[in-house]
Amino acid sequence: MLLALGAALQLTRVVVRGSEAPAQVKKVSSVDVLIRGGLVVDGSGQTPFTADVAIDDGRIAQVGRLGEVAAETIIDARGLVVAPGFIDVHTHADRVARTPDAQNFTRMGVTTIVAGNCGSSAVDVGEALREIERTRVGLNVATLVGHNSVRAAVMGRARRAPSDGELQRMRAIVAQAMRDGAVGFSTGLEYVPGTYAETPEIVSLAAEACSSGGLYATHMRNEGTEVERAVAEAIEVGRKASCRVEISHLKIDSPSRWGRSTQVLQAIRDAQRDGVDVRADQYAYGASSSSLGIRFPSWSLEGGPKTIEGRLADEETWGRIEREIRATLTERGFEDLSFAIVASHKADPSLNGRSIAEIAEQRHGSQGLDHQLEVARALMRAGGAQMVYHVMSEEDVRRIMRDPSVAVASDASVLELGDGVPHPRGYGNTARVLARYVRETGTLPLEEAVRKMSSLPASHFGFRDRGLIEAGALADLVLFDPERVDAPSTFEEPHAYATGIPHVLVNGVFVIRDGEPTGEKPGRVLKGGGETVTR
Ligand SMILES: [Zn+2]
Repeated sequence: MLLALGAALQLTRVVVRGSEAPAQVKKVSSVDVLIRGGLVVDGSGQTPFTADVAIDDGRIAQVGRLGEVAAETIIDARGLVVAPGFIDVHTHADRVARTPDAQNFTRMGVTTIVAGNCGSSAVDVGEALREIERTRVGLNVATLVGHNSVRAAVMGRARRAPSDGELQRMRAIVAQAMRDGAVGFSTGLEYVPGTYAETPEIVSLAAEACSSGGLYATHMRNEGTEVERAVAEAIEVGRKASCRVEISHLKIDSPSRWGRSTQVLQAIRDAQRDGVDVRADQYAYGASSSSLGIRFPSWSLEGGPKTIEGRLADEETWGRIEREIRATLTERGFEDLSFAIVASHKADPSLNGRSIAEIAEQRHGSQGLDHQLEVARALMRAGGAQMVYHVMSEEDVRRIMRDPSVAVASDASVLELGDGVPHPRGYGNTARVLARYVRETGTLPLEEAVRKMSSLPASHFGFRDRGLIEAGALADLVLFDPERVDAPSTFEEPHAYATGIPHVLVNGVFVIRDGEPTGEKPGRVLKGGGETVTR
């Protein structure tokens, strides 16, 4: 039976009330690390308690009031929260092997990331994971296998259903990726070419992944005007392919549909009651980050670069594209494109950080929609752009956050200080939850926020022995100051690490100590089913 996790936790809270530490499990006399006197928020959602945490040989040896224990390293954690390392199940950190310390993640307390989201991953998952194992990285890494990447490898950017043979080849790639260690299958149904797929294709490929223990994670077909239909599709895939479902970066991205989070969350609860194990994740900001192409009709992006350029260059075809973009803007409740900011435009990085409206003003002397659309067209012809879109309402963000089935995840890549103008979530997502939504606005209790960043995602993705502070668990831990933790990264000045997080351990090894990176690379590749295979 599928019980709503929140209900289970309510019960736990009533039973475990009080500040007594759990019973000691086994006696320890000498350990690697002893964390003394912190406020343990153990990831389960239960009331925090003051305790010592002993770590030995990469695992938590004991939790409780431990008295005299010899330890190589002793951390005085009085005034700090001790929590399970944060698990970020929605990232685009596919290139982590190239920036193996991944400081934007570890400095905000993230100790496990999942790559391969939104339909985009390596096609050869085995080789991608071997590269991470060879390089060694600072945090644990798992990956999904992405539909768009698999479809592009077999069908290019064709806008049609696959032939039987093509579908078989895609299924074979997904099956191989699962054998190589993927933890599931992801879609990016708003992107080319994934958007050209109909539901039966998704069901077929998701079934391949879920029959070998994976889950189905989806960037849905629509997050605004058709969001309810898109949620229904995700649930249908879960039911027909027997998948656990993760709805990625849940949001309402169109002003004309603001408030619909109520119906969307209800649909998720209804599906859970009907036996579909569907959860979601969310980042803690009112702006999204995506491609510029997402605003263009998908038919206009079919085929190779030359074909697309031909459409954009041809005045008559452009007229048709422009009319469709205008109609979509109106339906979504936007007056123009002033909500759209360039994050990264490779052909002219001087535009990074500027809005489409500002660029129109600069180039055409006017911010009118006609000129904004000309700017969008020119950017697409010059290779497209990564964008930040200010499209959500705070009310929806908070309503989604308060739902017990929704985890916290960044949707970020591994970042390099100073490179581009990325969305600030890549530096601050977890810290912002703790600062803004726990401390400043009281949207979430501390223990619930921590649960959403630890045991909730760990259980849904099957990461065994992670996500809780308890004897025997792997020692992924974050220590933060609940009064000072903060996310100084902003949309204007994103390149700022999270603060108030002095210590982070991965598999029992410090990757952040006294607020500074140690250079250690204790991360492991987590393969399907939670198996740890390296070392
Ligand atoms: Zn996405």
